[in-house]
Amino acid sequence: MLYIVATPIGNLKDITLRAMEVLRSVDLIACEDTRHTKILLNHYAIHKPTTSFYQHNRFTKAEYLLGFLKEGKDIALVSDAGTPGILDPGYNLINLAIRNNIAMTLIPGPSALINALVLSGKPAHEFYFAGFLPPKRKARQNKLQELFRLKCTVICYESSHRILASLEDMEEIFGAKEIAVARELTKKFEEVTRASPRVILEKIRVARPRGEFVIAI
Ligand code: SAM
Repeated sequence: MLYIVATPIGNLKDITLRAMEVLRSVDLIACEDTRHTKILLNHYAIHKPTTSFYQHNRFTKAEYLLGFLKEGKDIALVSDAGTPGILDPGYNLINLAIRNNIAMTLIPGPSALINALVLSGKPAHEFYFAGFLPPKRKARQNKLQELFRLKCTVICYESSHRILASLEDMEEIFGAKEIAVARELTKKFEEVTRASPRVILEKIRVARPRGEFVIAI
């Protein structure tokens, strides 16, 4: 069986009893980054074999893991943070397992997307998840223009080295519209700023915060 297991997005306490039970019971844990996941496993004294399953080995490794599952073994699939399958190589294994009739389940838990959506205070009854914005300016501006036409809340992920450029484009396209930018979700310095792109830009330019961001538009 393939157990897709959600893990914390920052606060190690955000792991369910069921997730821990599964991680203790499987034959193998497939991790995006074994060193990263070892921090969590060591914290909870979970001693199980791990293997790396990441962006660059996702096709060959998914086949290898499928072979393992076909032998009747149990695998837990975890990502670096949050729910596997959302913007990580987990999708490739899940899809391959479905096509090969492998039984699977998801042990639910955190996802940065949901925390940011709820904390943004934007309507959550209808929303669009846009993943990461394109890295190149022109493509990003086109994407933002497309997203601006949607009549619902839009959520996107952004890294610390592109947040300023993205906010500059948002200022150009959204004007003074209030957006929300969340960072360090579930961590000690969790912060959600609800303001216009310009105000958030100025704040970030001064404070130069690190970490990763989720933007709600
Ligand atoms: N699978 C993950 C999930 O369920 O949230 C998302 C993986 S995606 C590769 C990583 C992105 O999620 C980061 O670049 C950032 O935008 C967002 N993210 C993850 N943890 C976060 C946190 N604690 N605070 C803010 N954003 C976070």
